[in-house]
Amino acid sequence: MTMLLPQFELHKPTTVEEAVALVKKFGSDKSDFLAGGSDLLCNYKWGLNARPNVIALNGISSLHTIEPLRLGACVKLHEIASSETVARSLPVLAYVAKKVASVLIQEQATIGGNALLDTRCHFFNQSYFWRTSLGYCLKADGTRCHVVPKIKRDGQLVENGNECFATNCSDFAPVLIVLGAEYELAGPKGTRKVKASEFYHHDGRARFVKEPGEMLVAIHFPERAKTLTAGYKKLRPRESWDFPSLGVAAAIARDGKGKLEHFALSVNAVDTYPIVFNTHVNQYLGKQLDDGAIDAIAEHVKTTVQPKLTVPMEPGYRKKMAAVFTRRLLKELAV
Ligand SMILES: Cc1cc2nc3c(=O)[nH]c(=O)nc-3n(C[C@H](O)[C@H](O)[C@H](O)COP(=O)(O)OP(=O)(O)OC[C@H]3O[C@@H](n4cnc5c(N)ncnc54)[C@H](O)[C@@H]3O)c2cc1C
Ligand code: SF4
Repeated sequence: MTMLLPQFELHKPTTVEEAVALVKKFGSDKSDFLAGGSDLLCNYKWGLNARPNVIALNGISSLHTIEPLRLGACVKLHEIASSETVARSLPVLAYVAKKVASVLIQEQATIGGNALLDTRCHFFNQSYFWRTSLGYCLKADGTRCHVVPKIKRDGQLVENGNECFATNCSDFAPVLIVLGAEYELAGPKGTRKVKASEFYHHDGRARFVKEPGEMLVAIHFPERAKTLTAGYKKLRPRESWDFPSLGVAAAIARDGKGKLEHFALSVNAVDTYPIVFNTHVNQYLGKQLDDGAIDAIAEHVKTTVQPKLTVPMEPGYRKKMAAVFTRRLLKELAV
């Protein structure tokens, strides 16, 4: 069973420009960015899409800064959990940081690595030896999908040789979405910002709208984020360190009469990308977030999400719990 790290060349840039120059030199298909390594190096040990060049970002000091409305991509989760700046400006981030994995992993893991976490699947997150027995799959080394082996095309059931349904299990992604965060990216074509709500898309392999070679530099929050009442609910088999099998995030703001003037909702770990419900919940702006509204939203979430058997906990259960957690979270925020 292969559990040793494969050979690769480690590069240690000290500026963002150097990191981008390195990815340009080696090509994005021959290199990976490394932050805390708590996900990437596990995948490498399992022989999952390892590349010959690894560009370590930890030595770039500008990626480590914490400001009230800006977090560098390499800020560690334990720093977020204990930062007074974060506690004052965006306390929900400290709460989420403590919910990721275990205390030990929070010492190593970064917010950037979390936002760009690879998607997960029972048939992918396995050793090379394990995967050999099934003939691999589309996401690594193979040509078939074991979760959705056939799909409908032009009314016909055909072999699924293209679509990967691996699940996005980032705890932070839905929370960054509801806070209105923007990702600052730097790459061979320059720098740009993309809204977190538009960054993820349905493709278990490509996952993001990131251009080849682009790296995450920082996460920016709008001034408004400081005024929001935000929360996150996570379902996982073991509280001690498991990835989410469901994650529900919401943020609201109300006027003096208790009427909603801002409402954002996102649900993760039920699809290849965090599902954004902002358009749906915006119909409640100008109204009270009462029990009737909360029940209707929870039902809508339940009927919308279509979890697959890619991560622990049965899809039907996660679907029902999506309604339960949405209801619980919104009731807490509405108090
Ligand atoms: C036992 C265990 C339990 C876990 N539980 C959870 C959990 O409950 N919730 C959860 O969300 N995660 C969990 N994780 C996954 C992981 O630990 C976290 O998501 C962590 O925050 C990833 O950050 P990292 O810095 O270690 O990322 P890395 O492993 O360094 O990178 C992750 C991915 O992001 C890319 N990347 C990293 N930084 C950048 C950047 N700045 N620009 C471009 N690409 C970048 C890497 O190339 C890689 O593809 C768990 C991991 C383990 C081993
Ligand atoms: S969902 Fe993706 S990772 Fe899972 S078996 Fe199918 S192709 Fe592989």
